[in-house]
Amino acid sequence: MFKALNPFFMNNPTAVREFKKRLIQTEIPFDENVDLAPFTSVGIGERIAFCVRPHTEGQLNLLSPLLKKYELPYLIHGQGTNCFFHLPKNPYPGVLIQWTTRSSHIESVKTNKSAEFFVKVHTGLRKATLSRFCFTHQYEAAVWLAGIPGTVGGGIAMNAGTRLGDFSTLIYDVNRFDMTSGTITTLRPHLCDFLYRGQSFCNNNQLLTSATLRLTKSENIDSFKKKFQESLAYRKKTQPLKEKSFGSTFKNPEGNSAGALIQALGLKGTHRGDAIISPHHANFFINRDKASGGDMLALIDQTQETVFRKTGISLTPEVRPIQSFVL
Ligand SMILES: Cc1cc2nc3c(=O)[nH]c(=O)nc-3n(C[C@H](O)[C@H](O)[C@H](O)COP(=O)(O)OP(=O)(O)OC[C@H]3O[C@@H](n4cnc5c(N)ncnc54)[C@H](O)[C@@H]3O)c2cc1C
Repeated sequence: MFKALNPFFMNNPTAVREFKKRLIQTEIPFDENVDLAPFTSVGIGERIAFCVRPHTEGQLNLLSPLLKKYELPYLIHGQGTNCFFHLPKNPYPGVLIQWTTRSSHIESVKTNKSAEFFVKVHTGLRKATLSRFCFTHQYEAAVWLAGIPGTVGGGIAMNAGTRLGDFSTLIYDVNRFDMTSGTITTLRPHLCDFLYRGQSFCNNNQLLTSATLRLTKSENIDSFKKKFQESLAYRKKTQPLKEKSFGSTFKNPEGNSAGALIQALGLKGTHRGDAIISPHHANFFINRDKASGGDMLALIDQTQETVFRKTGISLTPEVRPIQSFVL
């Protein structure tokens, strides 16, 4: 359910003061009137009334009734490496909930009979930290995790991965906090319906707080290290990593590659304002300077339309353009 704006709250200094007071009391770090662009890897966003950074389930328990009380639309956010903003108002009277962790420590590892390893992680943890941990302990997941930015929570929500693996293969259980009811549910794999770059067990009102990952050790260390290095080198060679992007723009259609389709139609370098299809990788759309959300959306629409007209293939965006928040 996407929510219309809440002019009442923004024009009510007493309500704003009270909201801030409660955030301070609950020790939830926050900022006001925040530029969202740095909250995305592509650098596209308007300003927002509040950004809050809870890090415990207890804080979420205190935050959710506050958002309800003031009817504040909110967005659950990781590191913004798979999204950009195109909001109808600037500043937008909503709350960005950036789920963070204060520690990069990865909790207890224990084996079961089949020599699997279980690792409990806060989902605010960066994938880069998890990937380094996996590399150090020679867990196979390091190979496909290498180089995917963002948080573990964003990774589970997007079922992030490569052709070598994705988050669906790691989940032993995941904890989900429901912002509407204030309840926490532990989901085992049979309740985790993963899709290609997505899932259907966590909606926009639900926040994945922690997960237990099941990891397997590589048996051949030399081959593991080689695959890890190759995976990073492949990324460096094929992706415009120095540019501002959100990774792949479109999901690969069944049996095809979105990048190859776009490239074959000669669309590399096409641009709308400062939003441009990378000359390096056709499925990477880049903000070359001051692209707006409108520029990026127009470029995505135009590419979808051209590909469909010329090939009959309908491309589905992998990136999430955020045009409103939920209540
Ligand atoms: C250079 C580059 C390379 C990339 N390579 C890959 C790749 O190889 N494979 C791949 O799959 N992706 C890739 N991506 C895309 C992106 O990094 C992943 O989708 C990543 O998992 C997003 O994580 P995030 O924390 O940035 O999520 P965000 O972009 O912040 O959020 C993405 C979605 O997840 C939801 N979400 C975030 N955190 C939570 C949470 N704790 N609970 C519930 N929902 C949450 C958000 O609401 C949003 O809908 C790449 C991106 C870049 C910029």
